[in-house]
Amino acid sequence: MNAEYVALSFFKSHSIHYHFKRPIITFPCPSCCQEAKMDVKNTVWACVECGDQGTLYTLIQLMEQDNVSKRILQNSKIYNPKEEIVLIRSRFEHLISKHGSSVEKLYKKVNQLIEYYQIERRPH
Ligand SMILES: [Zn+2]
Repeated sequence: MNAEYVALSFFKSHSIHYHFKRPIITFPCPSCCQEAKMDVKNTVWACVECGDQGTLYTLIQLMEQDNVSKRILQNSKIYNPKEEIVLIRSRFEHLISKHGSSVEKLYKKVNQLIEYYQIERRPH
């Protein structure tokens, strides 16, 4: 079993909200519930916000021994832009089917704005 498989299994089996874009797993920091990022190659993680850090082993220990951290890990949700965009698009499609072209114009404007920021944020 490789580290990536073990790490993903850990998040899944403990119902911890995460998203994975190889080689990084983003999940809620056990100290401050902001975004922490783990490299699956060595399972080393760090929180961007509070600087807390550790490995997968640290997280396993926290789940077993620290109820506060366990609660934060299992009850926090991190923002996943990919999930959000799918949700927003499906809600727009539902609204367009009900209300027609006025909503469709708004939908096009929102899509333009999203594309604008996607291009802005791309590294040069
Ligand atoms: Zn933190």
